[in-house]
Amino acid sequence: MKHPYGRCNNCGERLYEHIEGGYQCPNCRTRYPPDELENGSR
Ligand SMILES: [Zn+2]
Repeated sequence: MKHPYGRCNNCGERLYEHIEGGYQCPNCRTRYPPDELENGSR
């Protein structure tokens, strides 16, 4: 885990970089692929 990125759509927790790529919510463990974040955020 490194710097936070955005927020989780489910619980609002901050997302952290996942070791396998993309991001993950440390609270509910929802995974977010990097493609999905870059295309859909905002
Ligand atoms: Zn969450």
